[in-house]
Amino acid sequence: MMLVTSTSALDGAERGPGRVAVVMTMGALHDGHAELMRSARRVVGDDGTVIATIFVNPTQFGVGEDFDRYPRTLDDDLVVCEGAGVDVVLSPTVLEVYGDANGFRPDAITIDPGPLGDILEGASRRGHFRGMLTVVHKLMGMTDPDVALFGEKDYQQLQVIKALTRDLELGVEIVGMPTIRETDGLAMSSRNTYLSPEDRQRALSLSKGLFAMQAAAKAGEVNVSTLLALGTKSLTDAQVKLDYLEVRDVETLEPLTSLTKDRPARALVAAFLGTTRLIDNVALTGP
Ligand code: AMP
Repeated sequence: MMLVTSTSALDGAERGPGRVAVVMTMGALHDGHAELMRSARRVVGDDGTVIATIFVNPTQFGVGEDFDRYPRTLDDDLVVCEGAGVDVVLSPTVLEVYGDANGFRPDAITIDPGPLGDILEGASRRGHFRGMLTVVHKLMGMTDPDVALFGEKDYQQLQVIKALTRDLELGVEIVGMPTIRETDGLAMSSRNTYLSPEDRQRALSLSKGLFAMQAAAKAGEVNVSTLLALGTKSLTDAQVKLDYLEVRDVETLEPLTSLTKDRPARALVAAFLGTTRLIDNVALTGP
């Protein structure tokens, strides 16, 4: 495995004859990330190249968010990448990515996420998707992949990235992968390391609420208000501060009032455990 910190070092030489897959991360790697990397290997095969990027992107963090305290664990991350069969790790500096040590240059061209970027995560985290899409586009430019893999854990992100590659004709295949969870159901996240033991326990109310909604949908409940009440109960019982809990169309993320066979749905949640903001989501399917 090769670690490159400079994007110019990525030019050509390390590529095998096959396809190139990229997995983009902010580091503090856990098994959810490792599974994306292993899947990337399966997608491109042995003669393909798997590139992982590790970059804590300042422009997707809002003022007062956790950019400064975000865990940075490069040595451990390299061990995870190696174990997951990664060929090349790209870990550039903010200055290299943006030409400015703090993020966007004042004259920088950036990517407008459109209306999908104004709802849910975008409503709570103004500017988040502009920063995220811009860095995804840049990292694609640097790594020139055939395919890029992203987790469904960040469901809206995945949909917005699919829209980016479609609308800007990037010619990169986007593959979404299921959320990897701890054995008790909590979605793996680098931010879980912030949680106190008590908050770690209360955080289970997110997945529990979503699973309750999922089970009710499976049992035939189609009324979205009823489903939302079920999920909300799990969160309020655990005294978690809810940011949003919504049932949306899987692709357009438009609100739904009832589940129908012709419009697959997704339940999405964001909530605060103390100062830590966590997100999760599940598919809702009928009987
Ligand atoms: P992050 O480092 O949090 O920006 O995540 C990098 C990539 O890993 C994104 O595509 C995430 O959706 C994905 N990811 C993060 N957590 C998980 C998880 N628990 N299961 C699957 N994918 C994940």
